[in-house]
Amino acid sequence: MPDRSFLAWPFFDDRHREFADRLDAWCAKNLPVAHGDVDAACRSLVKMLGEAGWLKPTAVDTANPAPLDVRTLCLARETLARHDGLADFAFAMQGLGTGALSLFGTPEQQHWLAKTRRGEAIAAFALSEPRSGSDVANMDMSAIRDGDGYRLSGEKTWISNGGIADFYIVFARTGEAPGAKGLSAFLVPADATGLTVAERIEVIAPHPLARLAFDGVFVPASALIGKPGDGFRIAMSVLDVFRSTVGAAALGFARRALDESVKRATERKLFGAPMAELQMVQGHIADMALDVDAAALLVYRAAWTKDMGAARVTREAAMAKLFATDRAQAVIDAAVQLHGGDGVRHGHIVESLYREIRALRIYEGASDVQKVVIARQTLASST
Ligand SMILES: Cc1cc2nc3c(=O)[nH]c(=O)nc-3n(C[C@H](O)[C@H](O)[C@H](O)COP(=O)(O)OP(=O)(O)OC[C@H]3O[C@@H](n4cnc5c(N)ncnc54)[C@H](O)[C@@H]3O)c2cc1C
Repeated sequence: MPDRSFLAWPFFDDRHREFADRLDAWCAKNLPVAHGDVDAACRSLVKMLGEAGWLKPTAVDTANPAPLDVRTLCLARETLARHDGLADFAFAMQGLGTGALSLFGTPEQQHWLAKTRRGEAIAAFALSEPRSGSDVANMDMSAIRDGDGYRLSGEKTWISNGGIADFYIVFARTGEAPGAKGLSAFLVPADATGLTVAERIEVIAPHPLARLAFDGVFVPASALIGKPGDGFRIAMSVLDVFRSTVGAAALGFARRALDESVKRATERKLFGAPMAELQMVQGHIADMALDVDAAALLVYRAAWTKDMGAARVTREAAMAKLFATDRAQAVIDAAVQLHGGDGVRHGHIVESLYREIRALRIYEGASDVQKVVIARQTLASST
């Protein structure tokens, strides 16, 4: 039985507690789904989550606008990740892929949001390029004025939902200034002429992922999100909301690993007694429980701070993501150890957690980059 005591923490309102309980019950009934064909599984998960109303927190309700509630997003990701990593992915991308529209979109652009919240359209966020992943400001993709619109040329890679998305939020260089200040954001429908999937990318925990080619893709001026030159600020604002939720997903994976380990340690006998009686096993369990609680405190501190109206939570979100993802890796590794041979058996839950957690320490800012962010913020606040 997963530990639910954290829901009593003062970071939450009763509506969060009720949301987490209802979602957990829904997950227990409907997840995991079969992952054999990841594209089909993702499409079906988006539809299922949308029909059941779980995608509503991922984007603003244009009929009744209110800021995105980061605590709800984190609770959703933690809960979904605990049950099925692909369900968490499907949920997360509806948020990350629409974040720029929720925060900066025109009413016309925000028309997509009703569809993504119902699970009737799939969103994607296209920032990374072959030469610029961590070094976002160095991107090559260009958007050149052409009559009453822009022509986009270049490549995006590592794009989650690449190949199954209905639209992409694409960042490109419009050249108002060198570096970060010369980027803009565009809403590009997946069926735009000249936009193709150049490569499908296979990773250790399969999900839809692609490299996209833009061969002079024309978009009207109305596809521009915000103002020319706002692209970097838009991307960072979106990541500021969603970065803590990556920590929440890691927390969900870690909690599942701990739950599986406690079950294993109490049920399996070694040397004539339950494994849980061995003090070295207790040491592992203690370390895992400590990491899970510490990660939860950092994740929900960041989410609560944002929800209380902080303009930016760069430091809090970086700490939450760095700690929760790095420690989840350690928790899951300990779970594999405690499961012995079963821990590396293909198809076992802890084996899949071991594969699922790794990419979270790389995307939306690698762990090393989060350290740089935390150090800069800490040094700046001391001067
Ligand atoms: C599964 C998966 C899904 C993804 N989904 C998306 C998506 O939907 N949209 C999107 O736009 N991108 C996506 N990405 C891309 C992801 O954001 C990049 O992979 C990430 O930013 C790292 O960029 P890179 O791969 O080019 O590595 P590089 O930028 O080459 O970095 C490699 C390593 O160098 C180190 N490093 C980098 N910068 C610093 C620094 N300043 N100081 C110290 N060390 C540093 C880190 O260890 C880093 O891991 C995804 C990636 C993966 C793996």
